[in-house]
Amino acid sequence: MRYIIKLFPEIMVKGASVRKKMTRQLADNLRRIFMEVGLPPQVKWFLDKLEVEVPDDRASVAEEILLSTPGIEQVLRVRQFRVEPTLEAIARQVAEAVGERLAGRTFVVRARRKGQHDFNSQELERWVGGYLNHNTAAAGVDLHTPEVRVELELENNTLSIVDARMKGLGGFPLGSQGEALSLVSGGFDSTVASYLSMRRGIKTHFVFFNLGGTAHEIGVKQVSYYLWRRFGRSHRVKFVTVPFDEVVEGLLTEVSDSYMGVMLKRLMLMAAERVAERLGVDALVTGESVAQVSSQTLRNLALIDRATDMLVLRPLAMMDKPEIIRIADEIGTRQFAETMPEYCGVISRNPVTHGSFRRLAEEEQRFDMGRLERALEGMRIEPVDELVSAINAAEAVPVVHEVPPGAKVIDIRRPEEVAASPLPEADVAIPFHELGRRFAELPQDVTWLLYCRQGVLSQLHGQHLRDAGFDNVMVYRPTP
Ligand code: ATP
Ligand code: MG
Repeated sequence: MRYIIKLFPEIMVKGASVRKKMTRQLADNLRRIFMEVGLPPQVKWFLDKLEVEVPDDRASVAEEILLSTPGIEQVLRVRQFRVEPTLEAIARQVAEAVGERLAGRTFVVRARRKGQHDFNSQELERWVGGYLNHNTAAAGVDLHTPEVRVELELENNTLSIVDARMKGLGGFPLGSQGEALSLVSGGFDSTVASYLSMRRGIKTHFVFFNLGGTAHEIGVKQVSYYLWRRFGRSHRVKFVTVPFDEVVEGLLTEVSDSYMGVMLKRLMLMAAERVAERLGVDALVTGESVAQVSSQTLRNLALIDRATDMLVLRPLAMMDKPEIIRIADEIGTRQFAETMPEYCGVISRNPVTHGSFRRLAEEEQRFDMGRLERALEGMRIEPVDELVSAINAAEAVPVVHEVPPGAKVIDIRRPEEVAASPLPEADVAIPFHELGRRFAELPQDVTWLLYCRQGVLSQLHGQHLRDAGFDNVMVYRPTP
């Protein structure tokens, strides 16, 4: 299968040398990802496009990759032919290629042309259209509401017939815009913000401040891993965990209730700045959005922002929640966000909405900054691609490889996945995002084994259920 990759328009308007660099970066990124999935890297690059060729039986894998790689505007699935560049020869070739598909249907021909020819695009369209009309069983030409669009691209003597035109992610090739560190809490906002950062071509690392929940940590790792694998896996990035329990304790005991929220976010930025320096990156990314919650009024964001001199990017600053949720849906993080077991120990009962700079300075005086230093000493830096195996190795929830007598298995994968490859030993299927609600309705005098493909979702939701007091939960990972 052959694809023509059209680059993001903002790349196309750059000067020649920048464009060349970006095109080459995109080609490199694709080669790396294709290599990793065992597709021989057939990527050719030109100044204004790329061409990719893969074996026909791997087309769906290739398309999935092309449609989730930043920097691509459109993906055209094409059949290519070498033709004598005359109207007659081209028309004959097109008729042979699409004739069958036209039988009994109305059609239109759309053509684009590049190179030296003694006809223009309109003439080409008209000629081929007339030829198809007379030499196939088509029901006639319909310029406005055709049943079939015959799309052609002619470049010198290469004729491409476009069988499908798919919309890519847009954005810039990953790695072309430097590196940033995204503060992720696993909710809607920070996951969408991280995605937008990656799509813009920024190599995006993750930092998570653990306020006191193993389940939350596993959940954030899972969604970060998902984002990276889907949109950013041409580059290896880091996932950093900073234990914030001592900081939380300080907020609860040393800072006034109404300033806890603002102070927590300031402390996160201060810590993130230090992590960013350690990783050598230029910017921080957060999911903050003006007016969304009390700590995100314009004044409070101003108070928070002064915690660091570092560039802080807030891609969602002016976006509405429905727009953010729509993106989360599109990129597949919605279900993760909805079931993220957030720890809410430091929510103010009475949060300040228009904080004062002077008061904040006083509050900060009372906070023992040694707590932040100790938190930073405890930071862990892991390559994001190793998260899944690390979570499995830690086995926070006990893992069994065979079903013990009396135990029952819950398949917690999404219904599509279950349907595609059912697990014979499963007793019941409850998708992970319904587990929290439905688990309590199950008989509780048996041990329940959670099953998912990688064992990570099971760890997460197993931990979640254990935190809720259900000790009869384990993870089931059959030996392959
Ligand atoms: P989200 O949907 O991302 O959870 P939110 O709207 O709930 O965000 P807050 O919880 O106030 O907003 O957090 C604002 C931003 O601060 C988040 O988008 C994220 O970038 C960062 N943040 C919050 N909590 C954490 C955490 N535990 N670790 C890392 N970053 C965090
Ligand atoms: Mg949140």
